[in-house]
Amino acid sequence: MKKFKVNKDLCIGCGACAAICPEVFDIDEDGLAKTIKEENITEEEAAEATDALEGCPTSAISDED
Ligand code: SF4
Repeated sequence: MKKFKVNKDLCIGCGACAAICPEVFDIDEDGLAKTIKEENITEEEAAEATDALEGCPTSAISDED
């Protein structure tokens, strides 16, 4: 299953990823996104997280198998 990561150097804290997939992304205390679930994500969560990845305005989200 994929793992999703946020590059905080690119993130602008728009919140879109946490809105699209709150199971996997949250806004951290610094106002930037972070991954809150890396292991054992479901197919549905992976699909939503992929939508978030594709919708991120700064391409700050990456995935790896
Ligand atoms: S969608 Fe991209 S820029 Fe917006 S909070 Fe998430 S990672 Fe950051």
